[in-house]
Amino acid sequence: MAHFDTRAVHAGERLPLRDHSPTATPIYSSTTFSHPGIATTDRVLGGEEPGYSYTRYGNPTVTAFEQAIAALEGSGRAVAFGSGMAAVHAALLAAGVGSGSRVLAAEQIFGSTSSLLVKVFDALGVKTRFVDAYDLEAIEEQLKGFSPTALFLESVSNPLLRVADVPRIAELARDAGTAVLVDNTFLTPYLQRPLDLGADIVIYSATKFLSGHGDVTSGAAVADAPYGDALYELAKLVGGILGPFEAWLSLRGLKTLSLRMQRQCENAAEIARHLAEHPKVSRVHYPGLPDHPDREVAERVMDRPGAVLAFELAEDSREAAFRFLDALELCVRAPTLGDVYTLAIHPATTSHRDLSPGRRERLGIREGLIRLSAGIENPDDLLEDLERALREV
Ligand SMILES: *Cc1c(COP(=O)(O)O)cnc(C)c1O
Repeated sequence: MAHFDTRAVHAGERLPLRDHSPTATPIYSSTTFSHPGIATTDRVLGGEEPGYSYTRYGNPTVTAFEQAIAALEGSGRAVAFGSGMAAVHAALLAAGVGSGSRVLAAEQIFGSTSSLLVKVFDALGVKTRFVDAYDLEAIEEQLKGFSPTALFLESVSNPLLRVADVPRIAELARDAGTAVLVDNTFLTPYLQRPLDLGADIVIYSATKFLSGHGDVTSGAAVADAPYGDALYELAKLVGGILGPFEAWLSLRGLKTLSLRMQRQCENAAEIARHLAEHPKVSRVHYPGLPDHPDREVAERVMDRPGAVLAFELAEDSREAAFRFLDALELCVRAPTLGDVYTLAIHPATTSHRDLSPGRRERLGIREGLIRLSAGIENPDDLLEDLERALREV
């Protein structure tokens, strides 16, 4: 198999036309596909022959994106969805979560995933319990006592960048007969391939690093059989599919994943080192720093410490955080991550806004906490911008 960066640019190219082959994947903006004879249509619809018939069942541009994701993951079948949340929803159903079943979820997961479980799935008769994903004993106890159908976690948590011990957790879940679902949005297959570590289904918000340019909302889930086939059936029947134009943008973004991630990881590491020495910063959360609580796990499960970091202002107040954010001229204030631009957010009033102050406190989301997602800019310009903003605090 070719190297990761080679696969990123070549995977998913397909469908040579009769007289020529486009070098770029075309946008097949067509709802339906016709064949030279009805017998072919019949065989394609019956699944006896590969091909395309109706875009909700499959579209060449979308398939190219799915093949590229699967090629980077290294195994499994990838299915594209209209958003990361549509992929989360389908992954839970594909794992067999339904009326009467139970889900064990990491306390630290993405807010919308947690709400999906406690609002939508709860109303369908699914009980969810939350567990500290960094306490293996607590996970083992819940796997035995609660007998969940699925365990849902994120490879790296937001915004404090805790690193899950996916291989150990997957081993515990395998013994308990529980499917392991890993949202790997923060790391991408460039930094971790959870299927290789024992996960059953991997989920991506491709809106973030995979697409990388802040111009498309998309998602994907990857799994081996039987989960992979279940994901495909759900995309087809629930209909949360990715459109051909969004698939094209996502595939285009994916081609530069290696280059972007390399630079973004370098920038994040440099910013983390710089801020760790800064008198106006009391703490930096970055898996590459020696004082990170999961440093040892990070070295085992991630290829590099990642492109996202968070830090606490020494003056721990909302006013100080807002002054800092307003003083940024280069870093973009926006509640997302993974773009080519460096992004800054205030988790207490964005991703964790709906939590009570007490729960935020327990999770360690302080008022003076800022999360940065490093872009691909020149690091000197980024450090200058951060320095200017820190002077305003
Ligand atoms: C953004 C995000 C999602 C949801 O993705 P959308 O594309 O916005 O639906 C899920 N999980 C994580 C970790 C995310 O960052």
